[in-house]
Amino acid sequence: MNFRFADIVLPLAQPAYTFAVPEGVTVAEGEAVSVQFGPRKYYTGIVWRLHDRPPAARRIKAVERRLYDRPLLDAGGRALWEWLAAYYLCSLGEVMRCALPALMKPSADSARQLLDEEFRPRTETYYTLAPDYADPAALDALFDRLERRAPKQHAALLELLDERERSASAEVARRLLPAERPVLNALCRKGVLEACEHERTVERGAPHFRLPTLTPHQQAALDRLRADFAAGRTAALLHGITGSGKTELYIHLIAETLAAGDDVLLLVPEIALTAQLIERMERIFGSRVTAYHSRLTDRRRSETYLRLTHSAGGEFVVGVRSSIFLPLRRLRLVIVDEEHDASYKQTEPAPRYAARDVAVWLAQRVGGHAVLGSATPSLETWLHAATGKYGRAELTERYGAAQPPAILLSDTRRAARRNERSGHFNKLLLDKIAATLARGEQVMLFQNRRGFAPYLECPECGWTARCPHCNVTLTYHKARGQLVCHYCGHTVEAMRRCPACKAAELQPMGFGTEKIEEQIAALFPEARVARLDRDKATSERAYGEIIADFAAHRTDILVGTQMIAKGFDFEGVALVGVLNADNLLNNPDFRAGERAYQLLTQVAGRAGRRAAPGEVVIQTADPSHPLLLQVVAGDYEAMARAQLAERRDFGYPPYARLLLFTLRHRDPALLRRGASALAGQLRERFGGRLLGPIAPPVDRIRGEYLLSLLLKIEAKASSLRARELVAGELRRFAADAAFKTITVSVNVDPQ
Ligand code: ADP
Ligand code: ZN
Ligand code: ZN
Repeated sequence: MNFRFADIVLPLAQPAYTFAVPEGVTVAEGEAVSVQFGPRKYYTGIVWRLHDRPPAARRIKAVERRLYDRPLLDAGGRALWEWLAAYYLCSLGEVMRCALPALMKPSADSARQLLDEEFRPRTETYYTLAPDYADPAALDALFDRLERRAPKQHAALLELLDERERSASAEVARRLLPAERPVLNALCRKGVLEACEHERTVERGAPHFRLPTLTPHQQAALDRLRADFAAGRTAALLHGITGSGKTELYIHLIAETLAAGDDVLLLVPEIALTAQLIERMERIFGSRVTAYHSRLTDRRRSETYLRLTHSAGGEFVVGVRSSIFLPLRRLRLVIVDEEHDASYKQTEPAPRYAARDVAVWLAQRVGGHAVLGSATPSLETWLHAATGKYGRAELTERYGAAQPPAILLSDTRRAARRNERSGHFNKLLLDKIAATLARGEQVMLFQNRRGFAPYLECPECGWTARCPHCNVTLTYHKARGQLVCHYCGHTVEAMRRCPACKAAELQPMGFGTEKIEEQIAALFPEARVARLDRDKATSERAYGEIIADFAAHRTDILVGTQMIAKGFDFEGVALVGVLNADNLLNNPDFRAGERAYQLLTQVAGRAGRRAAPGEVVIQTADPSHPLLLQVVAGDYEAMARAQLAERRDFGYPPYARLLLFTLRHRDPALLRRGASALAGQLRERFGGRLLGPIAPPVDRIRGEYLLSLLLKIEAKASSLRARELVAGELRRFAADAAFKTITVSVNVDPQ
């Protein structure tokens, strides 16, 4: 049946637009097409709905032509996009921008140019044995003949049959055959082989994998997960300390799913660590592993996307948050490793989605399962598991001889009173560093702030250097002799004398990784010191070199921000020092406690991934802080209960859902009027559930002023209804000519 109109989603922050489908053009829902939009701009769009209702607009443009030989989205994919747009309050066009690799959605100034830029996957020649030789007797006879008359062809045919056997696939790619092209051509001319040209496929062996033998504890946890799923739960928490074998459990579940011909998605946080995990998975699952992350070229990502649209199943993707958009048509298992990791949430631009939550939604939709693994789960997940909505399995022991580290708190104020402090180091930490280095072992030092000092201050008049575009102080980077804004990148040469009173020299206040590096190098002149933070890891290569040097023990002490906290297995690290836990705890965010626990536990886990237990020294001005005591005791549950009690009292997630609105404009007066108007509108609907307008902690960025509104909805209330009301009010606000120039962004479930 041919429809006359198509609603088409374009990669713009816009709703779908209606186009005419010309005579003789057939398109289907989920297919990509090229269309002209605006005076002379051509876009790739996705056919969302076909219908016969003429739109209100008088002049309506026609679809130019169809792109690709297959739909890019099936019904499941369209359902995902629609759910994302509705839940995260954005347009389908914004979802499209984020979901498809860039090469797959070119836009251009002419139809001709768009045609040139259309993405085409690489193709390759594939050979199959002609059907005449399916019969073993005919094949035998052929071999006899060839052996006598054409030994090269005989050899080529044998190679092809071997390869066919090995890859369990009738078609064999040219690149896997050692024979020369003329030999293969000759076999084709004789009607022995058939050749065809098509997109690269991935060779797949039969799904028999060598799996690790689980310990009785691990086996019990795996059985528990299976029982939870068998009881009808979609998601389960795998709560296991670092090194307890969570990954080994994943491997068993993955193998099972692949053996059934179904697809698996393993989500990993967005850090270089992905490489380690991918390698580990490839050792077991070989060519079945498909990696999907931002360090791959866009071409590779586009080819992966297209290949999956016609895969027969048995796919295993290991990827970062955007892999939730891949068209895995037989998805049955989604695993989210380190499910608490903040990188699963996209903050900018829209859709501001949380991949962990999308993973659970996906599993639910396909009737499959989601496993959320972590040593320090998010409180949202933990509460779901505690109330029985999610299943739960626990692993409380490290595998093998590895012991958890011993954690000590070291009081900075007391050390200062007793004169037991050099620079930012307590004597306890320095003594332990000296002893560790003397044993030929390695040290990691963690400071959650980069640069040399957070700011420069005049001791005379109190002047501080501030960014002219953002409402923050400039961070002092000593080695570069510069002051840098960490929000907009604004950089100026550091001055020595106070430009305000000209009476005194500016003093660095507070400290960052650069200062720690300088001090530790002065205290231990023989030690080889390196630093890892965003200033140092400017490229993938620079990052890799710092890590490789430390892994090979070419450096003794590694100073870093949370970049050093995540997952590396450095055998030689015997001591971890945390310079200042206080700035983690004294953060006004309601998640500060949870995040501090997660980060400190993760940093501590870097010590002693070996037989001898490692040591961790955490410096703090408040050694009786309950959260630090929970970290020392490794008592996640005590932390969770305490934090949840506070969240319940103050109406924060998981007991409420938050929607954060941020309004931006260069004119602060107009912005204030706009924010009050929107607040008034929302207050009419939601009453006291709306807070604000409030100035966020940094209320001017890149010359624009910011104001925010926060909506708190009880977790029990219908979130669908709330979202509809919000969407309606946002439309009303956007339609107000007075506020047209104000940018409003909505962050649902902000992190
Ligand atoms: P987690 O994912 O919980 O941090 P891993 O699965 O990475 O833990 O296990 C930690 C280390 O112990 C890994 O090197 C892993 O190979 C090893 N290990 C864990 N369980 C087993 C097992 N059953 N057999 C062999 N090695 C194991
Ligand atoms: Zn001054
Ligand atoms: Zn700035």
